[in-house]
Amino acid sequence: MKILVIGAGIAGLAMARVLTRLKIDFDIVEKRGRNDEHGTGIALPFNAVRCLKQLGLYAPLMEKAHKVSSITYGKTNGSVLSRAKLTSKPFKDDIFVALLRKDLQAILMEGLEDKIEFSCEATQFNEQKSSIEVHFNGNKASAQYGLVIAADGVYSAVRRYFEPQDSSTLVHPVKCWRFVGHLANHGLEPTYLFGKTDVFMAYPISADRIYGYAHVLADKTVPYHSLNNLEQLRLFFSDYSDPIPQLLAQLHVRDILPGRVVSVAKPLFHRRRVAFIGDASSACSPLLQQGAASAFEDVLTLGSCLERQMQQQGSIKMALNEYKNERSSRVQWIMNYSDKPYRALRKMNNPIISGLRNCLIRLRGPLNVTGWKRLAKMPGPF
Ligand SMILES: Cc1cc2nc3c(=O)[nH]c(=O)nc-3n(C[C@H](O)[C@H](O)[C@H](O)COP(=O)(O)OP(=O)(O)OC[C@H]3O[C@@H](n4cnc5c(N)ncnc54)[C@H](O)[C@@H]3O)c2cc1C
Repeated sequence: MKILVIGAGIAGLAMARVLTRLKIDFDIVEKRGRNDEHGTGIALPFNAVRCLKQLGLYAPLMEKAHKVSSITYGKTNGSVLSRAKLTSKPFKDDIFVALLRKDLQAILMEGLEDKIEFSCEATQFNEQKSSIEVHFNGNKASAQYGLVIAADGVYSAVRRYFEPQDSSTLVHPVKCWRFVGHLANHGLEPTYLFGKTDVFMAYPISADRIYGYAHVLADKTVPYHSLNNLEQLRLFFSDYSDPIPQLLAQLHVRDILPGRVVSVAKPLFHRRRVAFIGDASSACSPLLQQGAASAFEDVLTLGSCLERQMQQQGSIKMALNEYKNERSSRVQWIMNYSDKPYRALRKMNNPIISGLRNCLIRLRGPLNVTGWKRLAKMPGPF
């Protein structure tokens, strides 16, 4: 049985590592060129780090990553709404880190460079009795596979191919910006400042660099479309307190990655001989920073289902059903929890409702930490 992995992002690379460990023959294709770089920073909560440990990547991760130990939520003027430690129960033996996305990509890619076929896209799938014939663009010849693993991200073309009726992509009503900026000797722990509908996150990824994420309601940006991304950030966040003005003062427009927050309404784990992992399966909003973690959990679960069925002389179909059963409820919970604030965002324009949200944060603690605590108590693939 040969497997095809489509996409060499976080999910596809982690999958390739697991297949290598299981000694399963596979191809992996990636539509980007070999040297194309993308991305800014990435924050990895406890479950992403647990998964990377299982993938045998803890040491290289800790060489590149910055450890954080608390989360603060505040108002735009800097007054603290709530603060939570990440070093006590249930996270006593866990760590939370952040790093450059390209460093995480390099850690996952180590040893796989020659295996990946870059600038190559799967274009057509012909289902046969016990395999799928896949056609590619470029020089790669068509081939038969026992299983296709779609790791091609939130706009998954494979998902659209196998689920043409699927209209579950949700584009949330925010414009967001991500960047990595310099801030010498900042001494910061992750800090989130909330306006009514806006938010600015400053998450340290080294002693002098910050991973930033900010969003505003997309409608707000319409009159300012002629401003560049840095000018827009400075316009919308000019009255935010430290460290936002210092960060924005030193930022270059080329370092900013603008976008929309996109998630999927309904997870998809498999369709016939195709498994879906990572964002292609269950992209969710960034509140819980579960993008990489959930991709790694998919990979570890699918890997152990395939291994079990190989040992028991079972079938691909059984492995895929097990994969869906083991992942469904955890993934659904993550998606609901992460999407909820984005769905309610417009209502925050009402000062009473955003005031109530702030009271809730004061009472229960930062929303992401509350969510991570719940996740730590649910069964996962560790
Ligand atoms: C604003 C924002 C902030 C975020 N912050 C965080 C964070 O701090 N922490 C976190 O864990 N997650 C975060 N995420 C989510 C995270 O980026 C994704 O969940 C993660 O990248 C998913 O990995 P993936 O491999 O599934 O998809 P991707 O990273 O999108 O990789 C898919 C790959 O497939 C390739 N591809 C696409 N189509 C094809 C094709 N047809 N053929 C071949 N290759 C193809 C693409 O080129 C790409 O390399 C954030 C997301 C957003 C939008």
